[in-house]
Amino acid sequence: MSDRRLGGVDWGVVPSDAEAGAEIYELLRELYPICRSISGDGVRRTFEILQGVVPLEVSEVPTGTQVFDWTVPREWNIREAWIADADGRRIVDFADCNLHVLSYSVPVRTRLSLAELKERVFSHPAEPDWIPYRTSYYNENWGFCLSRRQLDELGEAEYEVCIDSTLADGSITYAEALLPGQLEDEILISTYSCHPSLANDNTSGIALVAVLGKSLSRLRLRHSVRLLWSPGSIGPISWLARNEKRLDRVKAGLVASCLGDPGSFTYKRSRRGDADVDRGAALALRDRGERYELRDFVPLGGDERQFCSPGINLPVGALSRSPADEFPGYHSSADDLELVGPQWLGESFGVYLAVLDVLDRNAVYVNTSPKGEPQLGKRGLYRSVGGGSFEEAALLWVLNLSDGEHDLIAVAERSGLPFAEIARAAELLEQHDLLRRT
Ligand code: ZN
Repeated sequence: MSDRRLGGVDWGVVPSDAEAGAEIYELLRELYPICRSISGDGVRRTFEILQGVVPLEVSEVPTGTQVFDWTVPREWNIREAWIADADGRRIVDFADCNLHVLSYSVPVRTRLSLAELKERVFSHPAEPDWIPYRTSYYNENWGFCLSRRQLDELGEAEYEVCIDSTLADGSITYAEALLPGQLEDEILISTYSCHPSLANDNTSGIALVAVLGKSLSRLRLRHSVRLLWSPGSIGPISWLARNEKRLDRVKAGLVASCLGDPGSFTYKRSRRGDADVDRGAALALRDRGERYELRDFVPLGGDERQFCSPGINLPVGALSRSPADEFPGYHSSADDLELVGPQWLGESFGVYLAVLDVLDRNAVYVNTSPKGEPQLGKRGLYRSVGGGSFEEAALLWVLNLSDGEHDLIAVAERSGLPFAEIARAAELLEQHDLLRRT
């Protein structure tokens, strides 16, 4: 544990990016082999492992439950699946790679000709060695995913196929961790837990949010932070439907995904476009000197579509490295442990922590001595800093813009000074009764 501190002396101690990156990568390696889907025991197993990192509250939403316009589907579990040739040799086996089965395949055991088998097989349109990731959640279907090379090697013969799965009444499962702050106001970090062995999309997000939770649980936070792991679309929709009466507590939120690849950061604004989280994320990325791109909200993409649906309209943006469908290997077996690295996971952790720091400490103040500058010298505020320093500039910017209209994010934006300096100056001025929080 390094003694890097956020938010001045009282915020607490958090791991360095490198320490966090190593821990996230180890957790990702443990979670990567598990066959997850939008429901089933692979998701529960994933949450059992996360319980060892941060305490979770796990919820089950039964099959058939109506959640807004959606109905919770049946639960899917799979034990084995394979294609065998005429000699009984298993030439494709789910045990080797869980991407080999179309997710949510209904059970089947039959014999097929090559032509019949080919109608049940998906391969990657561009890359001959990649096994694609395919799902059929809401249409009953079965199928296999193969690399084009495997497919091309299949000769005319009779094949035996087996998918030993169950699709039955059960539930979908989501997990939450609430890290209480001084306020009931919440910052929400949501990620999806429904993808099988894909490292960047989104084992990286699952693991990063857990380690983030562990680190945040050691800090004295002003806002409460809620972490949510749930299956894509149906998960956030279920959570929103079950928590509709308390959504006004959510003051900011981020959808976390694809955080382990070497790509630069991408922040996609909330539907509101100018929410604190939109300004805070941009500022944190600026202050850290990251390579990043800011994008406006569009109703395409990940779970931000649910949080930003018009009847919900929460201030929730999406923060990733390369967005989901923009990195090589997306939704294929090439999204593996080689694609992701501790260094990039660690940087992502640092960025998330920096955004949370900005959101947690942002406030609007009023200068209690606004007529002329207050005399800083007699209060000892010039004593250690000297003329023309960073700290003095931060004090003067905060005093000048603390008119009850500008928050600290606005002061940092307009001054060009780091948010950390601005927040430190505000704390100092508040201690000397020169600022009052509105
Ligand atoms: Zn995906």
